[in-house]
Parts: sequence; C-alpha cells; structure tokens
Amino acid sequence: MKYRSTRGQVAGQGFESVVLDGLAADGGLYIPESLPALPDGWQAAWAQLSFAELATELISLFVGDDLTRSEVAALAARSYSTFDTSEVTPLVPLGAGSGTFILELFHGPTFAFKDVALQFLGNLFEFFLERRNARSAGHNITVVGATSGDTGSAAIYGLRGKKNVSVFILHPKGRVSPIQEAQMTTVLDANVHNVAIEGTFDDCQDIVKQLFGRADFKREHALGAINSINWARILAQITYYFYAYFSLVRQGVAAAPRPVFVVPSGNFGDILAGYYARALGLPVARLAIATNANDILDRFLRSGTYEKNSEAGVLATPSPAMDILVSSNFERFLWYLARDHEVPASVADAHEREQRAGEVVAQWMDRLKTAGSFAVSPEALAAARQAFWSGRCDDEQTHAAIARHHAAQQSYLLDPHTAVGVHVAETLRPEIERLGDNVQTVCLSTAHPAKFSEAVLKAVSDAGRQIDFQSILPPAFVGLLDKPRRCFECDNSPDAVAKYIEQTAAASSQ
Ligand SMILES: *Cc1c(COP(=O)(O)O)cnc(C)c1O
Repeated sequence: MKYRSTRGQVAGQGFESVVLDGLAADGGLYIPESLPALPDGWQAAWAQLSFAELATELISLFVGDDLTRSEVAALAARSYSTFDTSEVTPLVPLGAGSGTFILELFHGPTFAFKDVALQFLGNLFEFFLERRNARSAGHNITVVGATSGDTGSAAIYGLRGKKNVSVFILHPKGRVSPIQEAQMTTVLDANVHNVAIEGTFDDCQDIVKQLFGRADFKREHALGAINSINWARILAQITYYFYAYFSLVRQGVAAAPRPVFVVPSGNFGDILAGYYARALGLPVARLAIATNANDILDRFLRSGTYEKNSEAGVLATPSPAMDILVSSNFERFLWYLARDHEVPASVADAHEREQRAGEVVAQWMDRLKTAGSFAVSPEALAAARQAFWSGRCDDEQTHAAIARHHAAQQSYLLDPHTAVGVHVAETLRPEIERLGDNVQTVCLSTAHPAKFSEAVLKAVSDAGRQIDFQSILPPAFVGLLDKPRRCFECDNSPDAVAKYIEQTAAASSQ
C-alpha cells in the first residue's frame, strides 16, 4: 500500500512516513494510490466483531508492510480501551420507530468524535518512534498545533504521556469555552504544553504555519502535525461507518441496511471517512454534509464554485468546532473529482489521468489562494452531487433542533454540532423517503451536550423548559474547573513561541 499527494508531486510513500509527515512536501494531502478490496464474505465474517476488531480488519488493509496484523490489533485495543462504553460508538434510536438513529461518537476521553482518531494516532506515533529508536537513538517528534477548542483537547489526551512525543497546543487566551480550557490545561503530564496566545484562533494558526515554514526549526525539533490533514485520522474514522452498519443489522433494524449518513461538517474529515467506507464497498445510500452558517461546502454543492467567504470571515456560531472558512480535507475528494471528471476523456491511460488530476488540484488550490475561489466543470459538479447531499443550518435552527428533541416524548439532548446534522436530516426527509424502503437515517453525533453546555442550556431555557444538567454531566467533568492547571501565557508572535519550545526542549534534555 503506497500513498500519493493530491498535488501530484509526491508518490510511492509508505504508511509510516505518511503518518509521521502529515502534509506532503508539495503542500498536498496524502491519499492511497489504490483502494484495497474487502475480503470475500466480509459482511458475514465481520458482523459480530467488536469495534477494536473491526478497526483492526479495516486499518490492516491500508498499512502495507509497516505494521503486522497483530501490531494493528494491539494498537486498536489500546486506543479504544479509553472509551467509556464497550461499544465505543453506540447507535441509538432518535425517537421510537422514526427510522432515525444517532451514532454517538463522543464516548472518548474528551467527549468529541476526534478522540476516535486521535487516541489511535497517539499510539501510532509512539509505536513508530519506539521502533525507530530501537534501531538508532534520537527519534522524537514535537507536535505543534493550534486549536479553537476541540482538536487541542483531543490531541492532548491522545498524546499525553507518550514516549518521545512532546506536544505544544496554542489556543487563543480567553476565547475557548471554560470546559475546553480546563480540559486542556488540567493535563499535567510532562510532555504536554499548553500555550495561551494573546490573540485570536487565526493568530494561533498563523504562528503554527510560520513555525512549520522555518525549515531549520522544523528539522531540529522534528515538528509533527495532528490536524485532520493526517491520513491516519481519516483511516481510523472509517471504522465507525462499518460499525454503524453492523449495529443496524444486530439491532434487527434491517438485514441489509442502506443507511443515509448525515454528518455535521467543518474540515470535511469526518464525512470523508464515510466516502472511503462507501468506496470500499459499504452499502451507503447517501452521504449528507451538514454545515452551520459557515457553509462553503453547501454553497459549493449548489453552485459548483468553491469560494471563501473572505469578507464576512469566519462566523461565530453555537457549533464552534465547525466554524471554518475552507475545509482542508475537501482537497482529497477534489482529487477524485478531477481524475474522473476534469481530466479530458481522451486521456485513457490510468497513470496519466492520476498525474493530471494532481495538476488540476494544484491549480484549483492556487486559484483559491490567489483569487479566493475556483469553479469545477458541470460534469464534476453533477458527480459531486451524486456523491454528497448537503444542507445548512443557521443558529436559530440549531437552537430549535436542540429544544425540539429535548421536548420530544422520547427526549434526547443534542449538542449544537449534532443538532446541525439532525436539522439537515429533517429537511432532507422527502429525498430520503424517495430512496425507498430499507433506508435508515444515521446522524453522526460529534460531541457530548455537556461539552457545549452554554448553547444547550440557552436553547432549552429559551424554549421555556428546564434541564437538570448535573444529571447528564460525565463524571470526568465534575470538579474539572477547580483542578490544578498548567499553561504558558505567550506573546502573539512566532518568535516567542519558538523560544518557549526551544527552552522547554533544552530543559527536558538535561
Ligand atoms: C471537529 C468537529 C466537527 C467537524 O468535523 P470535520 O472533520 O472538521 O468536518 C464537528 N463537530 C465537532 C464536535 C467537532 O469537534
């Protein structure tokens, strides 16, 4: 199994280097050079597997010779033992007999779906570095990332205490939710460094980009990335699409389910895993992108133009983990669109088409950077609409969906991100019904409602209802705000952050 870059200048990379590199040298994202085939009879053979066993089957298909099957199994078992339910990602009905289900992805240590991938990625980093160090000493990685809340805490919990890994997470001081800030800064492991920047999330991201752009600094500290451009994150997420399918079978909903997956989307990492699940052969009726007011994906599927909303900038919504200007992982899907629908049909050779696809993507990305937008051909747009449905949910609709389901006879408390998906699923109902019988709606739930308690409480109390928040609070949140913290407050400058990283590295090597 080899990987290529979406921008066409890098190919033939193995799984281990793809994981440790993060981003390809040409600025593109890694994708598999070809998709593996599922084993014959997978539907029967995998039907009763646990989440970790299913992860082992799927991940093993993508690692080539870089990991043995038993190594994958050990990593998966370890990664998913930190979840608070043996099911890892349970599927629960939303309202009795409604045919709609919630796939709860928030049972990991930080109560958001990113744990599914980052628990695995942390163990993977540690495994590869230990193996390298057994051959020759001195291999380590310094993960540097920016967060507006969710990625940072999931990364910290994925990497805490890992050997040969240190992690620096920049967050905008005073601009992440109190729970998120506490989740990050109460982790006191020696290898975890929180950095509060006097500035915005964009400032944090700029600083990280600049540090990665300093070639000497990057090499000296072996900088590594954990954002959703890392292929291992997408790979690890494929598992829960299969798990949801088998859950429908095991719950007796359908012998041969055809789920419509509705996915609250920001950077397009979560739903992209569903795209790969379907490409592997999972029977998926449709994949639906749900966006909040930051709706670049929804606008693209309506118009065929991928356009940054630069004037308005990022809009602050009740679902902040989806507040983005562009969706970084969309580039991976664009590569497939380009290969199949932009490269002229006269180019018959498969290799030539793949090469040309990278050129098309590189041009699109260039235009996005310089002009703020690019448009795809009508054929490509039609294909994109075949692959994805989409819908948008504004702030008011988000609050209304939370209130409606809290008040329902079979009450369910949605977090604001999940509410975006549920709202979009409800607006798509006529289309879903047109797909015929034997179709189920599965809304991916990306966060526990207690993690975004302000929006949830507002939605419910504005609707004139009460909520006993203490009763749903996960035990890990009880007393969290009062625990000891460690955080470095830093000037809003790359030099100041670089200095802190250098000092910390020097202190720990003494
Ligand atoms: C990150 C995140 C999302 C968006 O996922 P993408 O992979 O960026 O599309 C949605 N909800 C929550 C709670 C998140 O943390």
